[in-house]
Amino acid sequence: MPDFSLPDRSRPLAYEVVRSRRRTIALHILPGGRLEVRAPLRAPLRLLAEFVESKRTWVERTLRRQKDVLLRILWPDRPLSDGDVVHLRGVTLVVRLSPQSGRVVEACRLARNDDDTGDVLVVPVREGADAARAKVLAHYRADLDARLEGMLPDCIRRVGRSPAALTYRLARSRWGSCGRAGRISLNVLCAALPDPLLEYVLCHELCHLLHLNHGRAFWASLQRVMPDWAPRRKELREWHLQAPI
Ligand SMILES: [Zn+2]
Repeated sequence: MPDFSLPDRSRPLAYEVVRSRRRTIALHILPGGRLEVRAPLRAPLRLLAEFVESKRTWVERTLRRQKDVLLRILWPDRPLSDGDVVHLRGVTLVVRLSPQSGRVVEACRLARNDDDTGDVLVVPVREGADAARAKVLAHYRADLDARLEGMLPDCIRRVGRSPAALTYRLARSRWGSCGRAGRISLNVLCAALPDPLLEYVLCHELCHLLHLNHGRAFWASLQRVMPDWAPRRKELREWHLQAPI
């Protein structure tokens, strides 16, 4: 289960460090509340610790929001507000509504937060209109299109079957489904997942083209196509489609 409890104020925040050839330090909150610091190759550990502590207020505020909403935020029963938290490719993004008065409303775009606390999803909306949620979902669809372009042919080759059709829809309880006619439907919220988990969902559904049930033969196919499916499946459980109660 993800741990949504707020960090103990008297202790330093726990975080993982991912180093790369980058110039700046950035802090990301992963689903389940884990913290990841992205840092230049040689940045001293003490500097990273100070950086994380300086973001404590932001971390606490964001975790509090995650507890309530996680992926449920994009369901039709609530409007999306400025400061809400969404996920894209496994990363937490803070929504910034950007009111526009012109005729043409731009698409969503990613931006950096001024204080290095992760990234922001800028959602242009016409003043007064509540189209923010639809905007984000359109962004998710476009993101899935881009990612599947490379990933889907590879998964199809490994499984040895192509779907009759592949469509997106917004679902509350399933990441994907596969019907008898070989039509696969992916939950548009899959865009929130990091690549390894999106790939798991894809391979899982494609294996249903071979076996429509979850019997032994199905798991054997998945094992052949994706030998490390089990840890991916376990990680996918951290991504609650329905907020934990
Ligand atoms: Zn299944």
